[in-house]
Amino acid sequence: MSRISISKVSKVYPGATPVHALDSIDLDIEPGEFIALLGPSGCGKSTLLNLIAGFEQGTSGGLLVNGHQVDKPGPERGVVFQEAALFPWLTVWENVVFGPKVNGTQKTEYEVRAREMLDITGLSGFVDHLPVQLSGGMRQRVGIARVLTLGSKILLMDEPFGALDAQTRLTMQELLLSVWQKLRTTVLFVTHDIDEAILLADRICVMSARPGRINSQINVPLDRPRT
Ligand code: ADP
Ligand code: ADP
Repeated sequence: MSRISISKVSKVYPGATPVHALDSIDLDIEPGEFIALLGPSGCGKSTLLNLIAGFEQGTSGGLLVNGHQVDKPGPERGVVFQEAALFPWLTVWENVVFGPKVNGTQKTEYEVRAREMLDITGLSGFVDHLPVQLSGGMRQRVGIARVLTLGSKILLMDEPFGALDAQTRLTMQELLLSVWQKLRTTVLFVTHDIDEAILLADRICVMSARPGRINSQINVPLDRPRT
């Protein structure tokens, strides 16, 4: 179930001046863990997330998700970016069921799941809204509901609340924690905000500046107050 094993993964972007973005990353993520990847801008956090997502390939090393070598994106790994890339001409409901519909999932199955995920993300009253009618925080909820409806057991989140104002950000952090407590999906959460990492994660992996390395890992006590 949703285990990620990364061993000695390096990434060099080729070019006139090659960029050594990741240097021999070792990281194992257990099913249901909430991991924050913390580090300064440019240290390679997004690169590592993109490799796990299957958007890019590492230059060397091994990357397994549930024992399978990752070489392309797949529905078990749902990605949430800073801006939820929603179809602007589709309603919230249509955006959320789009993926499973295209995947050939049974309608009866994905409709039940969509209703549940829209409920736990607080969107039940907004199913007929268009993205343009929603605030940034609400659009991010749709982004989360969408990957959960697709059945993703791993959430790869790249600064998902980075564009939100402080109050909305706090609301979304609380929402994400409550979703995670209900579903126990594996979460890899990229942030450069140490307070956000401490608030959300069980384990914080601290990356150093380029070439990105994981310098230290901090286990956050499980009995700490969360939000
Ligand atoms: P972070 O997410 O920590 O800000 P990134 O993973 O985005 O860092 O970037 C790590 C390094 O790799 C940076 O120096 C960045 O400029 C470089 N980089 C990222 N994507 C590319 C690319 N497609 N081509 C060349 N260099 C890239
Ligand atoms: P193999 O060829 O190693 O036997 P496949 O790649 O054919 O395995 O996949 C077997 C099953 O595992 C398929 O149902 C596939 O959808 C699923 N699967 C493949 N890659 C992954 C992954 N990274 N995470 C979760 N399930 C996967």
